[in-house]
Amino acid sequence: MRMNTDGLIIKEHRMTGDDRLVTVLTRDYGVLRAFVRGAQRIKSRSQSGSQLFAYSDLSIYRGRDAYVIDEIQPKEIFFDLRNDIGKLALAQYFCELQYELAPQESDAGQFLRLTLNCLHLLSKDKRPQLQLKSIAELRTLSLAGYMPDLVACAGCGKFEDDTMYFCVYDGRLYCPDCAEDIPCEEIPLGVVTAMRHICYAQDEKLFSFTLNDENFKVLDYVCEKYLLAQTDRKYKTLDFYKSIT
Ligand SMILES: [Zn+2]
Repeated sequence: MRMNTDGLIIKEHRMTGDDRLVTVLTRDYGVLRAFVRGAQRIKSRSQSGSQLFAYSDLSIYRGRDAYVIDEIQPKEIFFDLRNDIGKLALAQYFCELQYELAPQESDAGQFLRLTLNCLHLLSKDKRPQLQLKSIAELRTLSLAGYMPDLVACAGCGKFEDDTMYFCVYDGRLYCPDCAEDIPCEEIPLGVVTAMRHICYAQDEKLFSFTLNDENFKVLDYVCEKYLLAQTDRKYKTLDFYKSIT
């Protein structure tokens, strides 16, 4: 069966002869591992199209043991990401999030769109890095089935207070009265509003909010802690990003 779709290279693996093994986040078939034919040949289109962060139209078929990409038409290679070690590290982290959380062998259009938008805004400095990082974490989690319940206090239904509390382990929001005895992060109302926006906004509006620097730090802290608590694993690319910033 031949599959025509578009996708982003989220991981580069080993080479075998002229071929390169990659992991791709595809729009229609989710995350898959495939060999790119002729990726090593000098100046081949497949070479630029099979690099990390390359976004291309792809023609894929299922070989006997593996998927094979035999045609790549690069659309965007996000070259600017390679000029700045901080951006490069954060972009790699966005890709690792997809590698971990995006579906396999099913529609992943929303995951792909989110990642492409994050890479674009990161490469052009159009949003603060902490904002993009928080969005990538919380939105990917929400799409992948880990959406927190931020509608109101889980104890009494109170919609909001100047300060609310978020439990990264049960993914619920609590008011000051109900938060007692529950391990929670204290978050100002502005950050609650931003988290609600990231979880519930439509794709077109997703990146259209702002916070002051202090609240971006709180947002970043809570989203990262929620990711780590929910997925219960380490992210090498996250550790690297944090080690250089
Ligand atoms: Zn309450």
